[in-house]
Amino acid sequence: MVHNGIHHVTAIAGPARRNVDFYTRVLGLRLVKKTVNFDDPGSYHLYYGDEHGGPGTILTFFPWEHVAPGRLGIGETQETVFRVPEGSIGYWTHRFVDKGVAHQALEKRFGETVLSFKDPDGMRLALVGLPGIEAEPAWTGSDVPAEYAIRGFHSVSLLLEDAAPTGAILTDVFGFAEAAREGSLVRYTTGDKVQGGIVDIRIAGGFLPARMGGGSVHHVAFRAADDAAQAAMVSKLADNHGIQTTEQKDRNYFRSVYFREPGRVLFEIATDEPGFAADEPVESLGEALKLPPFLEPRRQDIEAVLPAVA
Ligand code: ZN
Repeated sequence: MVHNGIHHVTAIAGPARRNVDFYTRVLGLRLVKKTVNFDDPGSYHLYYGDEHGGPGTILTFFPWEHVAPGRLGIGETQETVFRVPEGSIGYWTHRFVDKGVAHQALEKRFGETVLSFKDPDGMRLALVGLPGIEAEPAWTGSDVPAEYAIRGFHSVSLLLEDAAPTGAILTDVFGFAEAAREGSLVRYTTGDKVQGGIVDIRIAGGFLPARMGGGSVHHVAFRAADDAAQAAMVSKLADNHGIQTTEQKDRNYFRSVYFREPGRVLFEIATDEPGFAADEPVESLGEALKLPPFLEPRRQDIEAVLPAVA
């Protein structure tokens, strides 16, 4: 079955060890891949997700030890939001108090309960409590009880000057439809309730432009089932919107093209295949440092410069 929606979100972080601690020990996600930034192999690329690293569950980071903090502004992702079962928001509020995680009072958006919080780099995150997802599988390798565990992405929100140009890409190319408006928020959904099926646009004219740095989202990737589906999206972008993508890049676990959408956020189209079990078994995902074939000859040098993470 073909699903639209968010494939992964990639952000910039400070020290790798602190990043691993927060996402695995506080949020209870699985580290599903430990590899390097293919364009900068002296630094990590860390992937967190559910047991298999399924599309719609994957948050990835480029951790740089001495990164300068980013500044929120127009043309970037404002918040990255996870789904949790409706009855677990109280558990998470207690957990954040216990573990000293900066968080805000509960609020309602589009009728849903939202718990906003920040990671150690100031990345803006939130949990949304949803009914009817308790039975979805959860990663049970952390100390978060399965009944409360994160079930992939709920949404991202984009902070933009205007909703319509970006909305046109979401609806025409990525299979979303405008679903609701509330205050300055416009909600787009894929309609099939799967993970990562929502994008909110927050209209905020007059803000300063974003400055990318620690805590900033670098890009948002959307799903394509395979190369043919991706190629069809690339054609639509060119024919209907005059947007050219990069050439396809092989990211080992998916194949990607990139483009800057009209609101200036970097978007990616990533294939669902082959997935994270392409180079190691599901049981031991994330344990060994994995390198793409073109970097294997440099493994010793790469391992020498990467900081220890656990
Ligand atoms: Zn990506």
